Amino acid sequence: MEYKICGNTGLKLPVLSLGLWHNFGETDDFENSRQMICYAFDRGVTYFDLANNYGTPQGSAEETFGLILKRELLAHRDEMIISSKAGHMMWEGPYGDGGSRKYLMASINQSLKRTGLDYFDIFYSHRYDPETPLEETIMALIDIVKQGKALYVGISKYPPEVALKALVMLRENKVPCLAYQGRYSMLSREVESHILPLLQQEGCGFIGFSPLAQGLLSDRYLTGIPLDSRAAKVNGYLKKEQITEDLTLVLKKMNLLAQERGQTLAQMALSWILKNNLVTSTIIGASSVDQIQNNLQALKNIEFSSEELSIIQSILSDE
Ligand code: NDP
Repeated sequence: MEYKICGNTGLKLPVLSLGLWHNFGETDDFENSRQMICYAFDRGVTYFDLANNYGTPQGSAEETFGLILKRELLAHRDEMIISSKAGHMMWEGPYGDGGSRKYLMASINQSLKRTGLDYFDIFYSHRYDPETPLEETIMALIDIVKQGKALYVGISKYPPEVALKALVMLRENKVPCLAYQGRYSMLSREVESHILPLLQQEGCGFIGFSPLAQGLLSDRYLTGIPLDSRAAKVNGYLKKEQITEDLTLVLKKMNLLAQERGQTLAQMALSWILKNNLVTSTIIGASSVDQIQNNLQALKNIEFSSEELSIIQSILSDE
């Protein structure tokens, strides 16, 4: 595994991390979840990304992770980076959603309890909440660090202009923002125009999520929707309607290029991100050890010829 320093801090993150959004909940196979976490950690994937609402039912991914940690990995706690987040709807009533101090403080306490951890390495504001003054959310993050409940803080999916204000506020209060989490894949490149240059200028790390566009950028959907795939699952965030004929055509063309490179489509999609110096780490998801094994191979070939890049560009412009 390769590790990169995150922004202007001393923290190194693996270039590929593992996220527990899907496939680690109470309704998933615990043994499979355990094998994926242990397999990844044994191969140098030191960063595990959680959030209060991950898993079905919500919160159960933190419980699964906590159990696996307690049973097998506790001796390695200091070799791991574990994050959680709050920001999206988690519990009923006015205090279980958004960016209020009340929600963030209550939520991190719940997440610590579910995971059995004393502290998180990173705690994120999961989204910008326009109904809460930015100062309130940011001061809650700062106090979370001062209380020892998290070592670093980050923000996720904030619009560029609000992100800049948040980064400045955090820096002025001597709790610099470790990282910004944003969606980034060959099919979602919005962060390239404003967010990535802004983070570089401000010395903040960028952690990409959904690098395979939830599995679209793989061989999963080239000839239909497999029954065990995210798109087929009731609780999956990827919807069948997203898999259009036009998109399938794009994926098939990408797959041919990947084959020419001697890679799977998933590997090529990851290599394409790994070549970008502005990305500190990319959080992959997985439903099996085989997928993680396949994805880690992407590190072996992150070079793209200018011809390959222009083919990718022209395939994407057909999307
Ligand atoms: P990906 O885009 O990597 O999608 C993961 C899915 O792709 C897997 O569940 C699997 O689908 C499929 N897949 C993975 N590897 C392969 C392979 N080699 N071959 C075929 N299919 C493969 O990431 P996610 O969308 O899961 O997001 C990753 C993480 O990012 C989350 O767990 C979370 O930690 C973070 N995240 C953060 C967000 C935020 O708001 N900050 C939002 C969303 C995600 P299948 O299950 O069908 O097999």
